[in-house]
Amino acid sequence: MNNNFKKEKLRSIVSGTILFDEPMSKHTSYGIGGPAQAYITPNNKEDLKSILKYSKQEKIPTYFVGSGSNILVSDNGIDGIVITLGKSFKKLEINKNKVFAETGVMLGKMVKECVKQNLSGLESLIGVPGTLGGALIMNAGAFGGEISNYLENVTVVTMSGKEKIYNQSDIDFTYRNSSFTDNEILINANFKFLESSEEIVTKNKLKASGGRKASQPLRFRSAGSVFKNPKEGAAGYFIDKAGLKGTRSGDAEISSIHANFFVNHGSATANDIVSLINMARKKVSEKFGIILDLEIKTLGFSKEVIE
Ligand SMILES: Cc1cc2nc3c(=O)[nH]c(=O)nc-3n(C[C@H](O)[C@H](O)[C@H](O)COP(=O)(O)OP(=O)(O)OC[C@H]3O[C@@H](n4cnc5c(N)ncnc54)[C@H](O)[C@@H]3O)c2cc1C
Repeated sequence: MNNNFKKEKLRSIVSGTILFDEPMSKHTSYGIGGPAQAYITPNNKEDLKSILKYSKQEKIPTYFVGSGSNILVSDNGIDGIVITLGKSFKKLEINKNKVFAETGVMLGKMVKECVKQNLSGLESLIGVPGTLGGALIMNAGAFGGEISNYLENVTVVTMSGKEKIYNQSDIDFTYRNSSFTDNEILINANFKFLESSEEIVTKNKLKASGGRKASQPLRFRSAGSVFKNPKEGAAGYFIDKAGLKGTRSGDAEISSIHANFFVNHGSATANDIVSLINMARKKVSEKFGIILDLEIKTLGFSKEVIE
């Protein structure tokens, strides 16, 4: 760690929670990751803005996370500040078919509340872990639906502490990707869903949750799909056909249930996951000529270790 910001100064700025040298393994679904120099949960918007302005002024590397269900953090940890809104930005308001939500709201909670109000549009995302913020960045999707489908706008805060609103059409949402930049933190969003019936939304929801339970290794810690599906087909299919299902590196395994899920059996390290990533890429490229792109986001690695 070479970024010596002043702990006392940071403490005097943050009114929310600040944890120094906080193991990221506590904040990722993999249960993997070395310490973040400072892991901060701002109390509110004003708190967030002062932290961002301070880190910009002091040139402290700053990263945003939701609930860590799509990230692999290096065993060496993160040199800088990590900010999460997952515990504080929790407002969720439903008014007829309009929904306002802060990005710390868990996606699962939002789906359930919409289903309760017979609003259609999010049911297929039932069971996708994580916060609304992470879902928007990733353009989370499942069983034909994507979070961006019924989105109206998103408010972000820049590193200068300024708020900006993007309309849906300002943002380029593609498969598991969005065009938000790394130096803006998403704070809330508005949606307009379809008014539907209890019968339809319940049917859609049950179909999606049944499909998930049947196809995913939900007993073990993972970050969901490691790679994006290439245009030729499902990444998991090619990893399986390359003979890699069940392959282990340390305590990490390419799941024998779903080959695009790499699971942690208890004490896997980020290096174990990286070894499996490199192995899957190499074998799939040799056998099928397909280059697999990562879906999971990585934090704290140098480019040579993982692209
Ligand atoms: C068992 C399992 C099943 C899964 N199934 C699916 C699935 O079916 N479909 C799917 O799409 N995904 C799936 N995932 C992946 C994951 O749940 C989603 O990508 C989720 O939307 C990530 O949300 P998060 O809050 O955990 O984000 P994180 O993992 O914390 O972060 C993801 C990205 O978003 C950024 N980010 C997070 N919050 C903010 C913010 N407020 N402002 C700016 N940037 C932010 C981070 O920097 C990072 O780049 C699955 C994961 C698991 C573990």
